[in-house]
Amino acid sequence: MNYKPEVVYIEKGAEGYPFTDKVLEKLPDTPVRLIADSASVVEEIKRTRDDVFGAGKQQLVLSRFKGTLLKKCPGISPGMVCCNYYIVNLMKNCIYDCSYCFLQGFLENNPLLVAYVNVEDFLGELDAAFHAHPDRTFRVGTGELADSLALDDLLPYSDALIPFFNERDNAVLELKTKSDRVDRLLGQGSCKNVIVSWSLNPQAVIDREEKGTPGLAERLAAARKCQDKGYRIGLHLDPIVLFPGWEEAYQSLVRQVFAALSPEKIEWISLGSFRYRSNLKKVIRERHRDTGLFTAEHVPGRDGKYRYFRPLRNRAYETVRRMLKQESEALSVYLCMETKEIWEGVTGKTPRSDEKLNQFFDL
Ligand code: SF4
Repeated sequence: MNYKPEVVYIEKGAEGYPFTDKVLEKLPDTPVRLIADSASVVEEIKRTRDDVFGAGKQQLVLSRFKGTLLKKCPGISPGMVCCNYYIVNLMKNCIYDCSYCFLQGFLENNPLLVAYVNVEDFLGELDAAFHAHPDRTFRVGTGELADSLALDDLLPYSDALIPFFNERDNAVLELKTKSDRVDRLLGQGSCKNVIVSWSLNPQAVIDREEKGTPGLAERLAAARKCQDKGYRIGLHLDPIVLFPGWEEAYQSLVRQVFAALSPEKIEWISLGSFRYRSNLKKVIRERHRDTGLFTAEHVPGRDGKYRYFRPLRNRAYETVRRMLKQESEALSVYLCMETKEIWEGVTGKTPRSDEKLNQFFDL
């Protein structure tokens, strides 16, 4: 998908940054407007557009980030096992339109696609944090409020982040994506401290629930290129969606993964089930009328999110984990945003007892 925003808005304070200039160079025919802040743009699309969230994705705002960028992953919530993951939100919103995307609720009041331009400030903040805790290993991801690579051609964050992380002894960068945009990554000199990870689902789920994203074959071909270049690869089978025939579909997915990738070069595989906050259900039903997400019943957990019934989740995790382990017993498979009980039930251990994962959990 080639993204071309309807308008580029430059927020006051974001003018003159090298990153801003680079983005504008790539969009010579797109109207550019200088704004004091984005509130008036949001008001305008709320007034004039039916699908406000969808319209928000088409408005690119270049902004200067003020505040602290490095944050702990929101997996730290009541009853959930935390994997000490850090996030850096360089962007907000995404060009894709997955039916289950939590951003539809989270960014409801400000759905514009925002990119922060003061890259040097972020790197300074990260450098200070890594220096202050030399005994820690920071696992940092950029894919919480956006896809890390979908816009890498237009917003070249990877050019700054990859060399920066490669020079650090106690930090690993995870670029998480559903895209096949890896050209900049393939052009980097070193990939030492970078893991590129793909969110994967059976093609039937991609077709119905992950609108605008590259297909499974394209994602795996991109992953293969990165693996051949020397990047470590992560995989997220998340969200696992249950539907009639899901077991065959996930078995086929696992076969396709290992036809493309070598298991020994896969750093980890995370499993997560479809989950949502109650306010998201209405949005999903309104914006994605063909969704198959609500064919099974969901129950609220201690963190307030709705998930499949615990026995169903357990069965899904055990089944997919077994399929993966049949390919290679050595694979590190972990669960994302799950309870201690589910971790122990599915894997027979908590993350701290897994040697590979423990380096991240033991902070
Ligand atoms: S790729 Fe991720 S961020 Fe983008 S729409 Fe899908 S779930 Fe949301």
